[in-house]
Amino acid sequence: MTEQSALLIRGVSMIRGHDTAPETGDILVCGSRIAAVGGTLEAPDHADVIDGEGRLALPGLVNAHTHSPLSVVQGAYDTLNHRSCMWLFQAYTKNRTPREVYLSALKNAAEMLSSGTTAVIDHFPEQNFSIDDVEAVVTAYRDAGIRAVVALRIFDGEYTDIFPVSGGLDDRLLEDLHRQNPLRPRPLEETRAICEEAIARFDGLDDGMIRIFPAPSNPMRCSDDLLSMCLDLSQSYGVGIHCHLLETFVQTKIAQQRYGRTMVQHLDALGLLSERFSSAHTIWLDEEDIALLADRGAVPVHNPESNSRGGSGIMPTPAMLAHGVDVAIGSDGSCSGGAQFLQRAMLLATLLHRTPEYPPECWVGPADTLRMATLGGAKAMLAAGEVGHIEPGYRADLCLYDVAGQHWEGAEDAVASFVENETGQSLTCSIVNGRVVVRDGRIATFDWDATRQELLARLPEMKARNAALFDLTGRLADAVLAGGQGPRSV
Ligand SMILES: [Zn+2]
Repeated sequence: MTEQSALLIRGVSMIRGHDTAPETGDILVCGSRIAAVGGTLEAPDHADVIDGEGRLALPGLVNAHTHSPLSVVQGAYDTLNHRSCMWLFQAYTKNRTPREVYLSALKNAAEMLSSGTTAVIDHFPEQNFSIDDVEAVVTAYRDAGIRAVVALRIFDGEYTDIFPVSGGLDDRLLEDLHRQNPLRPRPLEETRAICEEAIARFDGLDDGMIRIFPAPSNPMRCSDDLLSMCLDLSQSYGVGIHCHLLETFVQTKIAQQRYGRTMVQHLDALGLLSERFSSAHTIWLDEEDIALLADRGAVPVHNPESNSRGGSGIMPTPAMLAHGVDVAIGSDGSCSGGAQFLQRAMLLATLLHRTPEYPPECWVGPADTLRMATLGGAKAMLAAGEVGHIEPGYRADLCLYDVAGQHWEGAEDAVASFVENETGQSLTCSIVNGRVVVRDGRIATFDWDATRQELLARLPEMKARNAALFDLTGRLADAVLAGGQGPRSV
């Protein structure tokens, strides 16, 4: 039997959970789990010892919604709305090789691990990915050492919510779209087959670090048969279901027209709402929808930076928290969510609702936000009770920050200082499942400089190969914008 690894963090200040005051002591990790916390602890002779002097330990953050293929598309669409930028994303992500899928995911992982995020739900791209693509992204996360749900983004209908409304296109553009549409669904039986193969090959790898979830792009882009298939996969294999939900106002209109009820009610009628269901954005809900999410234990994922950039709306987080909904938080893809530093989304989540409409007792507090970024995300990943606390028995997913930095000095409230002032740049060490993946501020698991150089060298060709698609989607985006088709146009 091989000797179990051991790690001792000596004399560190720590915030064990979102609502706890800092305390100082040792943290002992044996294998993948936290073995003991607090006081002065004895460690095995072979233990890796990290000096915690001047450091603050927190549970690793969970980025509960992003898209790794977009990690190379930062800042490209700052002035576009959701409907128009969605078209341009297709041109950026089409025709990737598995190697490029791998490199894009590594870039996302590097940004997260080096800023304090130790787990991620990656909503994989929709354009008929292959099993080799899934293997590439899984391999990237295994190589990086980050805990990851690879959420397979599937659909079998039209993207009606982003099509320009009738009259907004000339005939030539419609013909070109019909011929080149990058969002062509594959048959349902093929979708099921690739999901089952991915689950069989990758779900549960590395001591459960890798999970595979079926992940409808958005329920309105899916038939009821596909949604029911996701429920069947969830029940048959114990996996979660992840999706986008009600990101834009037009999506509520489409749901009412199609189902005669809200999308949340429709999903519930199909049986999808449960503790295994998580949904990004989830903005356009009424009070009854929120109560339904609370009752079923579903987890909405707040994406405040992405929603603000795209002008989509603001999640009703205060009402959700009042109903007892477990909310998670995510960056979204880099094109709309920016670099993958979850702290920026956390700051926005804390401040967005501080307007005259909301009295201070309704405000989202720093501890609420930290809970979203730890326990909320853990629930979305089906890792509740496993990650999100620095407590014996939990997985050792935690990060150390240098608190000698100027924005930490004189901090009265460590949780508020972390949520409102930290950017991730104070991070010195990230530990995932007991393994040190960032040490002294540098990625320890793979050669980040070589990865970055290879990715940068490939970028021009990655764009050039999709020149025709850039032309088409650019014209589509222009038509949408020229027609004033914002999030409310039906
Ligand atoms: Zn998204």
